[in-house]
Amino acid sequence: MFYKTKGDKIICQLCSHYCQLKEGQTGICGVNANEDGNLTCKVYGYPSALHVDPIEKKPLYHFLPHTNTLSFGTVGCNFKCPFCQNWQISQTDKFSKENYISPKEMVRLALHHHCPSISYTYNEPTIFFPYIKDIAIEAKKVGLKNIMVSNGFMSKELCEEIPNYIDAINIDIKSFDKSYYKKSLKGDLDVVLANAKTLKQKGLHVEITTLMIPSIDEAQVEAIAKFISSELGTDTPWHLSAYHPDFKMLDGEKTPLETLKKAYNIAKKYGIQNVYLGNVI
Ligand code: SF4
Repeated sequence: MFYKTKGDKIICQLCSHYCQLKEGQTGICGVNANEDGNLTCKVYGYPSALHVDPIEKKPLYHFLPHTNTLSFGTVGCNFKCPFCQNWQISQTDKFSKENYISPKEMVRLALHHHCPSISYTYNEPTIFFPYIKDIAIEAKKVGLKNIMVSNGFMSKELCEEIPNYIDAINIDIKSFDKSYYKKSLKGDLDVVLANAKTLKQKGLHVEITTLMIPSIDEAQVEAIAKFISSELGTDTPWHLSAYHPDFKMLDGEKTPLETLKKAYNIAKKYGIQNVYLGNVI
């Protein structure tokens, strides 16, 4: 159960928005609702995108390397990033109910495609965790690993529960500016950092990604590098991905290679052992 009741409302405990929902109301993510006094995850069973991807595309470089992973996402998100590169599915609540895929069927698909893992990705998996949990239970029975690619804004309660089901996670640290996280992304930097730390301490395989949006200056790169190195450990891989204009942020240029190289050197200065440049053409 991922909610508790408060008077005539329920409080969703999937993510740190803790939406308080009256009967019939849907939360910020657009997909979890109070229906008959229970929390209903409307996208349960309805992937909006489903592919077999190389695991390196998640990106995860130090977990089951050179394997494929059955990857899917649904619709909706608990963040509102103006630069979202998957906004067509993350910033909508519309989806087709034509093809229901049960947890057992999802596992069967992974086995059929010879994937040793299933990845919950493309949009924020926290918001469809009830579906993930049921798939992960079935996946574990046949030895498959479970992977989340997340913005790290899950609730404290869910963060405690994730290690029971998930083996590896890639968490985005999108900025080191608290007010930018709040105002522009509608998230909370402190929550993301605390969750990353908790999951690493609990033994999950953790890798970090930073999309190098134009507002990330060298001071921010330095601050993120310092956090990874001192709080997560220098063995935590860091992916620095080139940004390209998308969604509502259509100005600015694609991250120059020079900027990525400078960020790489800062990461190395802080002793981070494995640093990767992504989306470089
Ligand atoms: S998942 Fe987050 S945004 Fe969605 S209803 Fe629950 S608390 Fe609100």
